[in-house]
Amino acid sequence: MKGPIEKTLRTSAFLLLTFSFIIIGIILNVFGIHSQVVPILLFAWIAANMVVLLLIRFIIRKGITIPLREVIEIMNSFVGGISSARVNSSQVSSHEIKELSEAFNGLAEKSSKDISELKKLEQVRSQFLGNVSHELRTPIFSIQGYLETLLDGALDDSTVRRKFIVRSHANAVRLNLLLSDLIDISKIESGEMRMSYRYFNVVEMIQDVLHSLEYQAQQYKVELKTSFDQDEVSVYGDKERLSQALTNLVENAMKYNKPGGSVSVELEMNTSVVKISVRDTGIGIAEEHKDRIFERFYRVDKDRSRAVGGTGLGLAIVKHILEAHQTTPIVESIQGEGTTISFSLKI
Ligand code: ADP
Repeated sequence: MKGPIEKTLRTSAFLLLTFSFIIIGIILNVFGIHSQVVPILLFAWIAANMVVLLLIRFIIRKGITIPLREVIEIMNSFVGGISSARVNSSQVSSHEIKELSEAFNGLAEKSSKDISELKKLEQVRSQFLGNVSHELRTPIFSIQGYLETLLDGALDDSTVRRKFIVRSHANAVRLNLLLSDLIDISKIESGEMRMSYRYFNVVEMIQDVLHSLEYQAQQYKVELKTSFDQDEVSVYGDKERLSQALTNLVENAMKYNKPGGSVSVELEMNTSVVKISVRDTGIGIAEEHKDRIFERFYRVDKDRSRAVGGTGLGLAIVKHILEAHQTTPIVESIQGEGTTISFSLKI
């Protein structure tokens, strides 16, 4: 099928030939040239015109029409969805069509990337929803089970009554923890959680966190200590959120510790940053889990995490908070000996 370019070319050729034919006829008539060579000259003139036109047609077809058709064909292949087809611009001689092909290839590449990113996000989202439902279902089912047993008669049995109520309460507490972690993570990820940055004394923050966890430390039979002698180190960040991150790290260091173990918060000053480390003498983390513990709901030992009231979201929240401060947590651990998680803050 002829496109508009070829149709225009054909019309121009026809007009040019007719026009030149008339002009030559007029010239010959005006000068009174009536010889036998006239038809030959005329024929030669028309033939030369035809050759030139064919040549122009060939150049236009090769340089414009064919590459344009290829671009259109590949564009059409995108109508049914993103395809991997690209225009081979290296063989295109027309500068403009080369630019058009490259622009189209760039657009196609970006769209493919965006689509696969969206697909990945969708997968992560549905995986997250699945995890959330599973996490919520476990304590809800437990509470439902205990309450049903109580209603079915256990309420009159003084030996199990209290036990079932205590267990229901523990599950309700777990639900509450899970929901507040979920709210935090969704606020952070949707950008709804506003950070309020300013300079504050990080030594004071560490001491406040350790003080607030003293009672829990006693329950876990773990000693909480600091190993620095500064009274004041000014850092730049959101004090409340960093305090939440440090609390999560120290809580984990206690939860995954051994009775009689210790948790120590350390400070290391550099020229522009201060490194804060939470070191424990706990169970440690095997190499293959180190990079994954910051993923939502990732637990090395599910039963132990649940037994200590873990939601599986604590470190994901820590990572988000630290990333908002342009820093990332670093994990060093020896299985059976302990773990150190550290991060740096601008001073
Ligand atoms: P959880 O609520 O289960 O503690 P986190 O996101 O806080 O969830 O931690 C993820 C997992 O990383 C934990 O389940 C645990 O297996 C592991 N973990 C975190 N901190 C430590 C630590 N200090 N020592 C050993 N394991 C840890």
